[in-house]
Amino acid sequence: MPPDIAPRLLSWYDRHRRDLPWRAPPGRLNDPYFVWLSEIMLQQTTVATVGPYFRAFLERWPTVQALAAAPLDDVLHAWQGLGYYARARNLHACAKAVAERHGGRFPQTEEGLLTLPGIGAYTAAAVAAIAFDRAASVVDGNVERVVARLFALEAPMPAVKQEVRRLAATLTPDRRPGDFAQAMMDLGATVCTPKSPKCILCPVRDDCRGLAAGIAAELPRRVPKKARPLRYGIAFWLTREDGAVLLRKRPEKGLLGGMTEVPSTPWRAEPWSLKEALPEAPEAASWRLLPGRVEHVFTHFSLEMNVAVARAARGAAGEWCPTAALHTRALPTVMKKICRHALDGTGQPE
Ligand code: SF4
Repeated sequence: MPPDIAPRLLSWYDRHRRDLPWRAPPGRLNDPYFVWLSEIMLQQTTVATVGPYFRAFLERWPTVQALAAAPLDDVLHAWQGLGYYARARNLHACAKAVAERHGGRFPQTEEGLLTLPGIGAYTAAAVAAIAFDRAASVVDGNVERVVARLFALEAPMPAVKQEVRRLAATLTPDRRPGDFAQAMMDLGATVCTPKSPKCILCPVRDDCRGLAAGIAAELPRRVPKKARPLRYGIAFWLTREDGAVLLRKRPEKGLLGGMTEVPSTPWRAEPWSLKEALPEAPEAASWRLLPGRVEHVFTHFSLEMNVAVARAARGAAGEWCPTAALHTRALPTVMKKICRHALDGTGQPE
């Protein structure tokens, strides 16, 4: 029999729940649009980072229909700084699907939610539970940790994930499953924290096998991560006589899909020499490399970019942007770093 932690956890939640911008007051149903938007924003980002973005999105697009009607570029621009632009593109596609296929109302079941773009198993469970009080088991990183400790699971992540999910599902109660899901998340975020869990304050400590075995703080165990591979590239900072710089759009699919970029070579495992990179340049010109380089870390690799600069002779195809207007473009963080480096290196005004 799984431990019946729901009654104690729910009464703890009623007293200690976090006040989050997307949460309805106690006793009121959460707005599915708020839940969905916050869950997409929260993937791999912290609550503190998401708060201002969430408020800004709601101010601008207060309903899913309003978000669906927004130009994609505006959504990508507002998403800047949250990273993972594929997520913003899916966010927009999902809003459109809800508006067009479902009359502006989110499906209430996990199965229905899973048919929408960008909604995977986790988000479907979160929206079904938190917005519609369905008995879905919601397992984010916080909940994984709580479950691994409650059941003293010693096998390392990620291999033990399946078992964590199975056990988490056995804990979900029929009554108030949405609050239970949020209570588990809050417990992980505020009490059962990664380092030094505050077991003395924990409402479910009597059932915690990790605590009883004296290994709670070591769980979940993890296999050591492999170092990120390193990639190299050269960005081409091409300016016109009037000071405008050449930008272009990245392909819709793939990393930073559809975002605006400073043209560059492909990013590869070996460093580029300037000579080797020149066939990739937007036009033949007197290219010279700026001293120094730009570094950026993506989830799956680190990137080192050199920046080559030249004055345009022919006016290559692309979007010519005055440097003073660069801040209005949907530039991902790595491209902002490249612009900063180029502006500093060439002494151009912003
Ligand atoms: Fe986490 Fe400690 Fe509570 Fe166990 S007793 S669930 S380790 S806070």
